[in-house]
Amino acid sequence: MKTYNSLYESIKNGLIIVNCVSSLPRRFWAKVDKEGPIHPTHGQCWVWTPVSGGRYGKLKVNDRWTRPHRVSWLLHHGEITDGLFVLHRCDNKRCVNPDHLFLGDDDDNKKDYVAKGFKQNQRLTREQVLWIRENCDPSVSGDIRRVASVLGVNERTVHGVVTDRSFVNVR
Ligand SMILES: [Zn+2]
Repeated sequence: MKTYNSLYESIKNGLIIVNCVSSLPRRFWAKVDKEGPIHPTHGQCWVWTPVSGGRYGKLKVNDRWTRPHRVSWLLHHGEITDGLFVLHRCDNKRCVNPDHLFLGDDDDNKKDYVAKGFKQNQRLTREQVLWIRENCDPSVSGDIRRVASVLGVNERTVHGVVTDRSFVNVR
């Protein structure tokens, strides 16, 4: 039987198996740019570089694809309790700055969605909101478009009202 003298030969011939999986923090930080855009209230975002625009990106943790901002939470604050969401204060989906993240439940997630949706929406008067609720039936094809064009607002705004995602406090 042939013997291998060097460590290199042993590895090359499969007598020693070397596990080359690099650690999660190393894989994570290698793709983070701490010179991200500066949020007026919260300061500098640290962005996940493999993606651009309004996307979250992903990386593999224990063979499962995970959102980088969740990994950031994990690395800085530890485990995320089941059912909780990691949300952004800075509204930047690519951001992994732990100071810009907070934990919330499904309810907070929806409120956050509403808050963000609200920002994207145009302003409506109370009368317009009530009018939309009365006159728009989202189950009718084309109705959102019709009402949006009547009021001269975008369809997303009308959609937000009729699905109770925005202007929820207007009664
Ligand atoms: Zn941020």
